[in-house]
Amino acid sequence: MTAPDYISPIVGYRVWCSDAAGLKSLNGIPWRPGKALIAECSTQGNHETPQSNCTCGVYASKSLDHLRRLGLTENRICGEVWLWGTVVEHEEGWRAEFAYPKRLMVPLSMVSFNISKVEPWLASLSAYSCDISIDAETGSVPLWRTDCGIDATGIELLLRRCKEWYVQRAEQRKIKRGDRMAVKGHGIAIVEDIDSDCVQAVLGNRSVLRIGCNEVVWCDQYTRWETAAGVSIGLTAFRTQGNERLLEHKQNAN
Ligand SMILES: [Zn+2]
Repeated sequence: MTAPDYISPIVGYRVWCSDAAGLKSLNGIPWRPGKALIAECSTQGNHETPQSNCTCGVYASKSLDHLRRLGLTENRICGEVWLWGTVVEHEEGWRAEFAYPKRLMVPLSMVSFNISKVEPWLASLSAYSCDISIDAETGSVPLWRTDCGIDATGIELLLRRCKEWYVQRAEQRKIKRGDRMAVKGHGIAIVEDIDSDCVQAVLGNRSVLRIGCNEVVWCDQYTRWETAAGVSIGLTAFRTQGNERLLEHKQNAN
């Protein structure tokens, strides 16, 4: 049984994953820029695809909303897709012999904050020569147009977001009272005071430490401050019930 041949392409909706090589179906099949994806039958094989009584063909939905209801759109590239050749119609979508992306819509959350990574990523998607837009909270923003290339509105959005991220990150990396600091050989201390040269922190045993600001580094892995290896720690006081007993010696941390 052969399905009808559609001369004019149909426009359906799909979702894709992407990596450095470009778009991929959710089952990992790569979509090559400039080349139609040709359906193959992996269930019955050896017949022209798609067949009405089989499940083969390149799948596309009749609406984006249908894909949302199926829970397929979260953190994925959504878009329109051309379908042509033999096409089998179903209630909610189609199975086609040939397919090619028509328009790509990328959730903003999927775009890197690092603008140097955006460039190769955009190059891999623009190779498909279809319009690309960013789905932001404020709506859809064009990023790439087939007729004129990069759209300034989209690039400005990504640059602004990148800048905000770096400012926020720099603010988080400023040592503050109450921050945790791992002190080599002593355990975790809580930052109590900071001046232009030194950080004062208190260990769990109430020992008060003074450490040079340039000897304290941020650790991304454990999201806390750490003292550099081999740093000399000055134990300046021992705090007991609000009183400080001064220590006269300095202790070297391991
Ligand atoms: Zn088949």
